[in-house]
Amino acid sequence: MRPAVDGIGRAFLFSVDLEDVRSMIPDGARHAPRVEANVERYLEVLARHDARCTFFTVGDIARRSPELVRSLVAAGHEVACHGADHVPLARLGPDGFRDDLRRALDDLARAGVDRVSGFRAPVMSLVRETGWAHEILAELGFAYSSSVVPAGTALYGWPEHPADCVRTASGIWEIPVSVFGGRRGVPFLSGVYFRLLPFAIVRARFEHALRSGRPAVGYLHPYDVDTEQERFMHPELGGSRVLNRLMYVGRGGVCARLDRLFARATVMPYRDFVAQRLATGGVVHAA
Ligand SMILES: [Zn+2]
Repeated sequence: MRPAVDGIGRAFLFSVDLEDVRSMIPDGARHAPRVEANVERYLEVLARHDARCTFFTVGDIARRSPELVRSLVAAGHEVACHGADHVPLARLGPDGFRDDLRRALDDLARAGVDRVSGFRAPVMSLVRETGWAHEILAELGFAYSSSVVPAGTALYGWPEHPADCVRTASGIWEIPVSVFGGRRGVPFLSGVYFRLLPFAIVRARFEHALRSGRPAVGYLHPYDVDTEQERFMHPELGGSRVLNRLMYVGRGGVCARLDRLFARATVMPYRDFVAQRLATGGVVHAA
């Protein structure tokens, strides 16, 4: 085992939003399956650091690739919920969300995941207007959500939400993703931002987050490391060609960046952070 560098005070809550982009685009089935090969790339980096992380998994993946989900559980990673079919919360509404969660939990159970304690909203769609989601998560037995970007980005965000981990009125912990720059903030450890920002900035902001006592929180997708993916228009970009071009930039450098950050922190599944740090009254608020 690798010693816990500086203890768990330097927690990196790295995660993969495990979804198949082909199921979100018209005619996606004509493109080659890429998810397994891409997950393997993440697993190689994690293995180099003897680290486990959280895979927020769409029900659709559990239905189509149960053996992939089983292998993640067997390797000690956390498999958490990313919705049944990756539908944003506003489109589901409260009742639709409850049904979607139940189906997603069934999908995960059938793929061998006994206990699911965490949730991430598709396209980070937990915003002020969909704040009702926390109560429904509590009702279905979830312990935490990591679904809020506490800033106003081009596509999503809840700028008034605290950047710290907070316990909501319904008892659910919300673990917001790391941002810098205040209300117009940048989720620098996530997706396209992680790939495109100069690494010196990413690393400096990463250190800043860890020094402040907050966990570093970010997410990537299988396609973020895929240098061989066929070109197509990605979903949820409003059809913008400029944004779509950015979806393909910087993918080749992601694993090397992760290697360098993993070496500087303790990478841990979210559920462990909740059990060890939040539920025990550990660091919640930070400067
Ligand atoms: Zn997603």
